[in-house]
Amino acid sequence: MTEILFIGRDDDAEAAVLAALDGSTYSVHRVRTVAAASALLAEQRFDALIIDFDDAGAGAGTGPGGGPGFDLAQLLGLFLFVPTIALMDDFTPEMVVQLVQFGAQDSLVKSELGNERLTVSIQCAISRAHMAHYDSLTGLPNRALLFDRLTHAINQSRRYDHELAVLFIDLDRFKFVNDTMGHEAGDMVLKTVASRIRECLRESDTVARLGGDEFIALVTNLDAAVSAATVASKIVESVSRPIMIGGNGATISASIGIALFPDDAESADDLMRLSDAAMYQAKQIGGEGYQFYRPDMNSSALRRIGLGVALQRAIRHDEFELHYQPQIDLNNGEIVGLEALVRWNHPERGMIPPDQFIPLAEELGLMTPLGNLILGLACNQIAEWQRLEMPVLRVAVNLSAHQFNQDDLLEHVQDWIDKTGVDAALLEVELTESSIMQDPEAAAGILGRLSDAGVRVTIDDFGTGYSSLAYLKRFPLDALKIDRSFVRDVTHDASDGAIVRTVIALAQHLGLQVVAEGVETEEQLEFLRANSCQFAQGFYFSPPVPADEVFGVIARLERQNLRPAVDEMRLGA
Ligand code: C2E
Ligand code: CA
Ligand code: CA
Repeated sequence: MTEILFIGRDDDAEAAVLAALDGSTYSVHRVRTVAAASALLAEQRFDALIIDFDDAGAGAGTGPGGGPGFDLAQLLGLFLFVPTIALMDDFTPEMVVQLVQFGAQDSLVKSELGNERLTVSIQCAISRAHMAHYDSLTGLPNRALLFDRLTHAINQSRRYDHELAVLFIDLDRFKFVNDTMGHEAGDMVLKTVASRIRECLRESDTVARLGGDEFIALVTNLDAAVSAATVASKIVESVSRPIMIGGNGATISASIGIALFPDDAESADDLMRLSDAAMYQAKQIGGEGYQFYRPDMNSSALRRIGLGVALQRAIRHDEFELHYQPQIDLNNGEIVGLEALVRWNHPERGMIPPDQFIPLAEELGLMTPLGNLILGLACNQIAEWQRLEMPVLRVAVNLSAHQFNQDDLLEHVQDWIDKTGVDAALLEVELTESSIMQDPEAAAGILGRLSDAGVRVTIDDFGTGYSSLAYLKRFPLDALKIDRSFVRDVTHDASDGAIVRTVIALAQHLGLQVVAEGVETEEQLEFLRANSCQFAQGFYFSPPVPADEVFGVIARLERQNLRPAVDEMRLGA
């Protein structure tokens, strides 16, 4: 049965509507005023509205519709989410355009009511409204309709003193399925998940798709029997069941964040925001589960969401650039290579240093795309310098632990080498001790393949982690970098001095080069030289600089001649 609400005072028009519609498929309600209609719509759902515009504005006795003071936009705004047909004795073309702009799906002159035109108009209005308010892939309400339903549900809950829950559902590993099995498979997964979530809820609850792999379930009328947690765990369980696609099983799971009305928030916007924060929390603790919103998520989680969203956008829009810091051979003063250090060139906040976004990227699982982007920037820069016939320098790229342990690291490295045509020997990767000691056996394999590919491997921040010397000996490494915290105090802290000397000796013993980082003063440089540290980098020579300043810095360093005999010349002075 298609439920129609007729709004208007004109009895003849109502009679014409009733006559035009077959009573076995259409049931027509009638109210006389807009006020009565909006009260009724708060209680009951209609499939379509027919508004008699000749007097629809007359609800408050202000005279006929279309007359002075009649606000079309406001009137239609009230019924934005219900398919609406405007009825009038006569329409000017301008009015028809305006009606459509404000959200009416169709308009009819009353003289046309008597024939089939009305049923066609109703069907068109319903399907047009459907296209505008539902997601075409899953058939679920979209974000706009969800907000309308949520606002409506909040009003109902307030009136009847009920609780309601907003469940923010985000799929884990969806991107992986989409990337590895293809977009058609991805679509299948989304459709299947949509119907599984739908099955976990009552008819009266709303499930919407926000876009991508994000869904919202709106659970109204909560009581002991239907608790938000029960629904959430049902969804988690149901989504986790394998999904068969063309004979293959895809496994996916859901992370859910829950915010409650009125306990956590009372507005639609806030409920959405808080459930989103709780969802992030659920992801952080491993996904495939649910979390209730807690006020202490506010500061940290919410701030992170803001930055996390910006970070995703930044990756899409290539807002990153590399700065380069030269490495000097202390024996002859020559520049032997550059370390590439990433900066986020944020459109509003300016340059953001890596410490402020690398850990976040790791946490949000964005390190793979970001790391790959960084590798690309470095390889492209090397190729660019080669094209410009600049002196060829090795570039070291930092790899995070997460990146190192990704299956496709080697593939990415090789891809960039092939794509840019750079010599693999010009690429170096810096890894921390902890990232290779997490799983030394696996690390040995990856390091071996990097080294087979011709890529240099250096252990970064050496001395801050716990390296097993037995493994260090077995890994195909090229260099150790002494962490700058030891270099900093090397001249006035005896134990730091001893650590630096030990690392240098260890490196020599293992046949590795040794690089001191964070060299800021001449005294530090002296100490390093006196203890046979061959390579150094730090502010004493140059801070990291943008690509177009690199050769200017190198020229300056060469003019200053850093060979040991003349190292008393103060640089930058
Ligand atoms: P790191 O690999 O130990 O990099 C050296 C850091 O020390 C850089 O900070 C550099 O600017 C800074 N530095 C260089 N010389 C001196 C000096 O003489 N004195 C002092 N006090 N500092 C000096 P930055 O660029 O802020 O990078 C910080 C950390 O962020 C890096 O530490 C690295 O762990 C990470 N990072 C930077 N770029 C990337 C990247 O592309 N990928 C990944 N995964 N991590 C990166
Ligand atoms: Ca480094
Ligand atoms: Ca370092």
